[in-house]
Amino acid sequence: MTELSEKPVSPLTSTAQSGAANYPGLDNWRELPASQQPTWSDPAVFEASVKELSVLPPLVFAGEVDILRERLAAAAQGKAFLLQGGDCAETFEAATADKISARVRTILQMAVVLTYGAAMPVIKMGRMAGQFAKPRSSNDETRDGVTLPAYRGDIVNGYDFTPESRAHDASRMLKAYHTSASTLNLIRAFTQGGFADLRLVHQWNKGFTENPAHARYESLARDIDRAIKFMASCGADFEALKRVEFYASHEALLLDYERALTRIDSRTGLPYDTSAHFLWIGERTRELDHAHVDFLSRVRNPIGVKLGPSTTGDDALRLIDKLDPEREPGRLTFITRMGAGNIREKLPPIVERVTASGAQVLWVTDPMHGNTVTSPNGYKTRNFDDVIDEVRGFFEVHHALGTVPGGLHVEMTGDDVAECLGGADPIDQEAFLDRYESVCDPRLNHMQSLEMAFLVAGALSK
Ligand code: PEP
Ligand code: MN
Repeated sequence: MTELSEKPVSPLTSTAQSGAANYPGLDNWRELPASQQPTWSDPAVFEASVKELSVLPPLVFAGEVDILRERLAAAAQGKAFLLQGGDCAETFEAATADKISARVRTILQMAVVLTYGAAMPVIKMGRMAGQFAKPRSSNDETRDGVTLPAYRGDIVNGYDFTPESRAHDASRMLKAYHTSASTLNLIRAFTQGGFADLRLVHQWNKGFTENPAHARYESLARDIDRAIKFMASCGADFEALKRVEFYASHEALLLDYERALTRIDSRTGLPYDTSAHFLWIGERTRELDHAHVDFLSRVRNPIGVKLGPSTTGDDALRLIDKLDPEREPGRLTFITRMGAGNIREKLPPIVERVTASGAQVLWVTDPMHGNTVTSPNGYKTRNFDDVIDEVRGFFEVHHALGTVPGGLHVEMTGDDVAECLGGADPIDQEAFLDRYESVCDPRLNHMQSLEMAFLVAGALSK
């Protein structure tokens, strides 16, 4: 017998990341209040689905997760900038090559502009390959006198308004896993296989600035053009720039799914939630002694928490103590979503308390969720100007306090949808009738996303 095969085979020493049955603390959340969880319609289907998920291969690898943590640590220190973007809710139906590539492409385009504006590396992260679970303000939805369970994202139930579709079907967790796997596979192919070539991405951006509506961004585009020509003249290795790191993230809302995809890393013996590189806790599930915060406190992934306008400095400090007791660089990101009208007043006291405590978190702005309104013709929407104003407020607050505005979290798509109002080539509410596709919150379309990148790049370069 070789020395190796004499070793006891335990989950901690197996060669691959293995399941995490019985790992201390990982199931504590089951004893705690957990909001926004489904009521699965068939317990047998639930058992079988969780069992299968628990042995399927990890979607991401612990080593990648560790690299991301280092990248986020750099962002927290002002040496990198995080760009996190994608759908509010991904759907199984829209997980097509065209739509996935358009979204990746738009994020890469935004990243080139931001890299130039910030003069620092941009960490590229999709709200993609797993963003399938949605928190809802009401359990039910009523239409024409008929009441059914609310849509909770494709991982739980269907969008169609029928009893069958709205039942909470646990087998959807398997479909979510496989859809995430194929999405991630395509993202990896695109970002490693030449699609991300800097010169190509810059070329795509020219399409944006050639639109007369975007004339005011021309000079920035020209500067980037000159920078790329300069790099080429210096003999920059554009081959190496064809490959970029791209990370997957989603809201860790559905705890049955997140727990089932948690594995013990064979290198370190520690648990990683392998459903995504980065996971965040939503504004509605961030109660300190509740299930979501407890579960995520026990996995090694970098973690985000959304902070809305009701957050106090004490809330933030308690979250840091619970989620980042070691004060580990890159571990914790606060994604603030205050609303354009609130951010200049509500954000400073929180940032001041955190800074005074000596903790270093990564501060990211989500300028979408505090700025949702209903259009006169009845659509859930956001005004581009409000979104931009919140981003400006975020920079102003951090600049005034001497802290680091480290990233941008946006709901966006690569397609030409009409869901948010405004932009230089403006979308009006009439366009919603034909081009509103989101099953949840309104996203910036391709052009609005690029315009945001140009505006933020301008703010970053000041
Ligand atoms: C979201 O990111 O889609 C979301 C629901 O955000 P929040 O938790 O900030 O409301
Ligand atoms: Mn949303």
